Amino acid sequence: MTDALSRLLASRDWLMADGATGTTLFNMGLQSGDAPELWNADHPDRIRALYRGAVEAGSDIFLTNTFGGTAARLKLHEAQGRVRELNRLGAELGREVADAAGRPVVVAGSMGPTGEIMAPMGPLTHDAAVEMFHEQAEGLKEGGADVLWVETISAPEEYRAAAEAAKRAGMPWVGTMSFDTAGRTMMGVTSANMVTLVGQLDHPPLAFGANCGVGASDLMRTVLGFTAMAPEIPVVAKGNAGIPKYVDGHIHYDGTPELMARYAVLARDAGARIIGGCCGTTPEHLKAMRAALENTPPGPRPTLEQIAAELGGFSSASDGTGETAEPRTRRRRRG
Ligand SMILES: [Zn+2]
Repeated sequence: MTDALSRLLASRDWLMADGATGTTLFNMGLQSGDAPELWNADHPDRIRALYRGAVEAGSDIFLTNTFGGTAARLKLHEAQGRVRELNRLGAELGREVADAAGRPVVVAGSMGPTGEIMAPMGPLTHDAAVEMFHEQAEGLKEGGADVLWVETISAPEEYRAAAEAAKRAGMPWVGTMSFDTAGRTMMGVTSANMVTLVGQLDHPPLAFGANCGVGASDLMRTVLGFTAMAPEIPVVAKGNAGIPKYVDGHIHYDGTPELMARYAVLARDAGARIIGGCCGTTPEHLKAMRAALENTPPGPRPTLEQIAAELGGFSSASDGTGETAEPRTRRRRRG
């Protein structure tokens, strides 16, 4: 157990991850369509402020500003030649902030989906995906990330490619998927499917779970699906702060800090070991979550009725695992 995340997991019952990257950067002036990763080079002070916001709110783990840092994603901004540099910078700034925190804080090198469809459904081969993730992983490693953090994945093939890239880079990793389609990922993966997938990997993640998706209620239902299977690997819950609504020309998440505090406690009581937020989760939400986790004694495993009563109703009737699964609707969201 030489890595920082394993040490923290061994010493604590739960860890708090961070909140939204996109939401916070938009509040700092990032324009829709801009590549956030370019700010690692152009606005390092803003990226330090992003990271510090999470650390000061009590996060034990924060993700680097490198979600779209693969060549496939940076190509949209003609920056595909800067993968190594932008990922290294994102991790270096993180290392700086974590090392100044005065307590152990884990720098997690964020790796989002390539945005391309993998074979056999689409053109991206396994080897090409591994190579893209590996290039990104090497930059994050070079910058001092403690662990790679793969998130918002929907295809099992892409999850496997990321696992192999982490192995090639010699890095521990965490990997979460986005269950945004009536309890399943966009590619049809259920919570039970994911537990099976994780169990088959020869370089398994240190933790796995769900991020983003729809609201906190749906994410909680997915977490209950994971922990019902008693996986040996710790579970991550990183839900959005409510449901996105379009207000006055921008996306607003309706989840209050109080709601996210209730969500954090429910996630812990459902068996999640790493709890954070995704889109819409600000440092204010994180502070409320941290306080609730510290001050609320452990409770029984929550029921679906309790989750709906405390966090609001679900977006679909089933969690996607039964034969009564609803027809799949399509949504796409950035982590
Ligand atoms: Zn999100």
